[in-house]
Amino acid sequence: MKYYVLFGPPGAGKGTQATAMVEKYNLHHISTGALLRKEIAAGTELGLQAKALIEKGCLVPDEVVEGMIENEFKNVTGVDGFLLDGFPRTLPQAEALDNILTKTSEEVTATVSIMIPDAMIMERIKGRAIKEGRADDASEDIINNRIATYHNQTEPLIEYYRKTRKYHEIDGAGTIEEVRDRIFSVMDKF
Ligand code: ADP
Repeated sequence: MKYYVLFGPPGAGKGTQATAMVEKYNLHHISTGALLRKEIAAGTELGLQAKALIEKGCLVPDEVVEGMIENEFKNVTGVDGFLLDGFPRTLPQAEALDNILTKTSEEVTATVSIMIPDAMIMERIKGRAIKEGRADDASEDIINNRIATYHNQTEPLIEYYRKTRKYHEIDGAGTIEEVRDRIFSVMDKF
């Protein structure tokens, strides 16, 4: 099994690119953001707790998303691997992922990081807000908090994956097809 981590700031285009990646490499897409939004829509207890945090631009607790990931690994078969989108987002989550995979003698295959500057983050999320109507895309304050959360809590993961030579950064500026082809040229190596 291949375990790819799709990494990058909010608005980098992870969701868009994930669709092409899962199709080409027969992967199962796990988006923790999408899973959480599903819980919110279903009105579950977990969804209720997550909603308040997400709408402030904060992260939900590590244990919550870790449990979701482990469930997906257990329940999905018939694929060549998994594409993790939006997870891990903190150092403890990255360590938890390593621990989960070690149990079955597996490991992260590669981290594909889509990089865009902060100014582009704001521009892209505002564009998406019009189309998708996500509550956490609604105000500049929330978006700014998510950008800050990314820099403080998620960015340290770059160093974590660099150390084990699993970090592959690609330029997220350009057309969807240009970025996709840059991603494919990295993934073709595995
Ligand atoms: P984006 O890529 O635009 O940041 P996501 O859909 O990945 O959006 O996530 C939306 C929100 O869901 C995050 O801002 C966060 O509150 C919550 N979330 C998603 N993944 C995680 C995670 N791994 N750990 C904690 N919170 C998460």
